[in-house]
Formats: sequence, structure tokens, C-alpha cells
Amino acid sequence: FNEVSSFDPDLAKAMDDELARQRSHIELIASENLVSKAVMAAMGSPLTNKYAEGYPAKRYYGGCEYVDVVENLAIERAKKLFGCTYVNVQPHSGAQANMAVFYALVKPGETVMGMSLDCGGHLSHGSAANISGSYFNIVPYGVTADGFIDYDEVERIAKECKPKMIIAGASAYARTIDFKRFREIADEVGAYLFVDMAHIAGLVAGGAHPSPIPYAHVVTTTTHKTLRGPRGGMILSSQEFADEHKLNKSVFPGTQGGPLMHVIAAKAVCLKEALDPSFKVYAENIVKNAKALANGLTSRGFDLVSGGTDNHLMLVNLLSKNKTGKEVEKLLDAANITCNKNTIPNDPASPFVTSGIRLGTAAVTTRGFNEADMDVVAEAIALLVDDVDANKAKAMELVKGLTDKYPLYE
Ligand code: PLP
Repeated sequence: FNEVSSFDPDLAKAMDDELARQRSHIELIASENLVSKAVMAAMGSPLTNKYAEGYPAKRYYGGCEYVDVVENLAIERAKKLFGCTYVNVQPHSGAQANMAVFYALVKPGETVMGMSLDCGGHLSHGSAANISGSYFNIVPYGVTADGFIDYDEVERIAKECKPKMIIAGASAYARTIDFKRFREIADEVGAYLFVDMAHIAGLVAGGAHPSPIPYAHVVTTTTHKTLRGPRGGMILSSQEFADEHKLNKSVFPGTQGGPLMHVIAAKAVCLKEALDPSFKVYAENIVKNAKALANGLTSRGFDLVSGGTDNHLMLVNLLSKNKTGKEVEKLLDAANITCNKNTIPNDPASPFVTSGIRLGTAAVTTRGFNEADMDVVAEAIALLVDDVDANKAKAMELVKGLTDKYPLYE
């Protein structure tokens, strides 16, 4: 940050402090990751200067010949990685990508099914607090008390409410999603199937979770979670469906202005990284590490919603520990472990307090943690939850051992 420090020491200090925090903490927030220096370099490049409204070869501005190359590289790599024929790399975020899909496929007032927020769905899937929940008639589905999607129940609700669109995908669901079954349900009621694979995109890219591409009419993702790219979104589909429903137009000019070309360049870098055979190993290791953390926690007396995990995340049910999610988030933070409080199915506590925490392994796996290290993380968590006053020093020692073993951005 040399240029920033000489011009703006106050800002540089906050940036330095954040880097130090990332180095010294174990990052277990399931939606976060640690990008490569190449991804960061592309974001901090002169491409930020360029206006490029429109799409490659069809821009509303001059001087777009090089950013066209950038956007085409990102598009072609995403098509190859996910095996689809249409990609839009312009959405500024996952929520923007989702809004563009709503805008393309449903009209205000029409019925849409999505997983409810308190069962693990995302705000942009129809929460009352979001534009999706206020402009459309949302009929939510949830999970069973033990934390699984009940596909028969999804089918029953769909037959009853006859939605125009069904959204599959979640922010806090630890199990494999059966996209084939979702498509069968959608076909039965004549609905579009829209899959938001934001959380699992890296696992899909690396073959560690079944792909939604063969089943969904349209797929969105963020690029910054398990996919390990810059903060941003993408929309994927078939060229025929995208043309018929004008998906490009629903992003620009429908819901966005000019694309962020520096971020699109960073998406291109991340997609090249994900096409490398080493990414498959990374995706497999994320899942292995999640299973190791889940085993380490259950063997130390923790309850996990659904009993475990198939992907990169797990939900810890803290009711038997007599602690809230809010308390445990704070306890762990005191010993440099970062996570977030999260509601569990039928949570008796409010969303600000919650009875659970959500843990994910994408960032620690990037850092190099292996399955044995995940057991050390489980031990540190157990020490803190059992008796923070007595065990904080010991837990911090375990955390420091791991953060020193796997240095970040050196
Ligand atoms: N979709 C899902 C499933 C998510 O979990 C998230 C973010 O956590 C989003 C969409 C929104 O992404 P963004 O924060 O980039 O808008």
C-alpha cells in the first residue's frame, strides 16, 4: 500500500490493520476466501478508469478494444469451467445478479418460491427486507427440523402455489442440493428453475459438488466465495434461454450501469486459476477439511444441524451448550477465530442473537490448513466454548501455532 500510505496515512493504517487481522486470525466465515495476489493486482489496475457500457463489440463508449479482450476472456473461461454456452460477467455482486434474473423472468406480483432466510436462504431470494420480497409474491420453503431440504414438501408447496420460478441455493445449507429433483418439481408445475450456486461455485468448478448447469434454466453465482475471486457476480445459462429472455439486457441497461472492468479482469484471473488442475485438489480439500472440522466438533460434544456436512460449511447448534450464537461469535473472536452467528432451524432466539454459528473452510484451505489442523481448530473452539476464562491462553496458543505455520501474503 505504499502509494496509499504516503498520501493518506489514516486510511493506510486501517488497511494495514486489516491485513494484520487477516494474518493473525483463523477465518471461518463460510462466505469468505483469500484471493491470490494476481486477482488483487487485476483489481488494483488502470482498468478501473474505463467506461464500457454495453457488451464486447457492442459498446456505448469508444476505446473499448482492450477491455473487450478482458471481458471475452472472462466469459470464455467461465463457459469452459462450468460447461455452459452463455455467461454474463458484469453483475457487480451476487445480489445484483439475482435481481437481474428476477427482472428477466418474473413480473411484479408473480409467485416465486425460495428457501426462507431463517432456514438458510439468502436475502435476495425473497426476504421481506429485500426488493425480491417486496415486489414479488414469495412462497418460502424451509428445511426439516434436522436440517435437510424435504423435496416432497417443496413439491407439495409448488403444486399448491404454482410458482413462475423456483429458486434453489442457499447461504447456510450444509448438504448436497439435488438439482435434478428441483428441476423435476419445476417442470411439473411449469416453473423456471433458478439456481443460486454462490456458496458452492468453487466446489462445482472443482467437481466436489454436482453441477446445477444441466438442470437449471439459469444459474447465478458470486465470484468471491469458494470460487476464490474478486467480490462480484455472474449469470450462467444456455445461449438460447439467454437470448429468449434477454438476460444481457436485464443486467445492462436493466439493473446496472457501466461494468467494473477491473473486477471483470480479476474474475478472468480467478477463472484461469479455477481451470488449473490444482483447483480440483483445492475443492476436494475444502470438503475434506469441513468433514474433519465437523468430526472434531462432534467428537467434542457439539451438535451439528443435519449431523455433519457434504460441502464447505456447517451449522453448529449451540442449544445443548447453553450458549447463543452471538456469545460464541464473540468468544471465538477473543482468541482470533472469526465466524458468524447464524439461525438454526426453528431457532428459539432472534436473528440478532441466534442459537447457532456457521463455520466454513474455504479460506483456511486456501491458507494451507489440512485435516489434522482442522482438529486443532475444533480443539480451540471447544476450549473457548467450554470455559473461555480458563482456556483462552491455551486456545490462542493453538491459533497462533496455525497462523504462524501458514503465513498469508508474504
Ligand atoms: N446468494 C447467496 C446464496 C449468498 O450467500 C450471497 C451472499 O452471501 C449472495 C447471493 C449475495 O452476494 P453479494 O453479497 O455479492 O451481493
